Amino acid sequence: ASTVTERINVDRPFFAVEFFPPKDDRGEAELWRAIRRLEVLDPAYVSVTYGAGGSSRDRTVRTVERIATDTTLCSMAHLTAVSHSTDELRHVIGSLAAAGVRNIMALRGDPPGDPLGEWVAHPDGLEYADQLVALIKRSGPFCVGVAAFPYGHPRSAELETDTERLVGKFRAGAEFAVTQLFLEPDGFLRLRDRVAAAGFDQPIIPGIMPLTSEKTFHKGPELSGSPLPAALVERLAPYSGDTAAFRAAGMEVTGELCERLLAEGVPGIHFYCLNRSTATTELVERLGLAPRHEGTRLSTPA
Ligand code: FAD
Repeated sequence: ASTVTERINVDRPFFAVEFFPPKDDRGEAELWRAIRRLEVLDPAYVSVTYGAGGSSRDRTVRTVERIATDTTLCSMAHLTAVSHSTDELRHVIGSLAAAGVRNIMALRGDPPGDPLGEWVAHPDGLEYADQLVALIKRSGPFCVGVAAFPYGHPRSAELETDTERLVGKFRAGAEFAVTQLFLEPDGFLRLRDRVAAAGFDQPIIPGIMPLTSEKTFHKGPELSGSPLPAALVERLAPYSGDTAAFRAAGMEVTGELCERLLAEGVPGIHFYCLNRSTATTELVERLGLAPRHEGTRLSTPA
């Protein structure tokens, strides 16, 4: 199995996809339809998020394991420190290694229930993501990614301290970062400059959610802490209430954002695809990010 670092360290821009573990059989079928459709586009890696607790966590491990064994894809499991003792975290890391997973996205996670509620570490657990990075690195030859926040983590008072925390995760051994979703490039570019000015050159991959509906347009920024730019609100206002027209305009906005980021030299784009393939396929085709299919027009799944 290859590592994310090997897969993203290539001489042309890549794309990658993030999934969440399915809740039921229907969700599982939908996820696997998306995986099969995206697999032919050769994403650099695909990742699977880690839930707040209980059975969804086992599903993350099972899903990543199945991707590792049943597909040609490079897979990455997310892991959070929420409600886990250090021993339990070691156990999960061991299960991932046994399943052939070599890549882990190390996150602190949010308090269960209210994401902005008070964070309380497990009494025998970890406080911050940099400690999880270090634990994973000590546990085996894993390639580790971390989260980055172009507009600062919602709990951070200042962008400067937030950047220091990101740099601290690189210092602990993280090899790359993926950002929280955002809708305009400036915050991302400034974050990249601050990290470079601090002397770090690990890739920072923009995390982009295709704007396919009014709900994603409004919910995304609400959940992520990135601003909803006034110019975009104005640009998309005429399409409010018209699902198809909003989708077309939203996808145009997303395409332009990705084009700007690629022109600014980002190594690739990480798509929050919500377990669907159509919007990501359209963007990959528009941006020319499917190396093996260069020159051929890809068919867009129905
Ligand atoms: P940290 O880096 O630990 O930061 C948390 C807060 O503590 C920040 O305010 C930071 O500035 C501060 N801080 C960090 N280190 C220190 C320190 N040493 N001393 C003092 N303060 C410090 N959540 C999930 O539950 N499951 C997922 O699968 C998941 N995937 C994600 C993927 C991506 C790409 C992103 C961007 C987020 C994801 N999240 C996921 C959400 C994430 O868990 C939350 O945003 C969480 O609140 C922060 O996690 P972190 O790893 O950035 O934490």
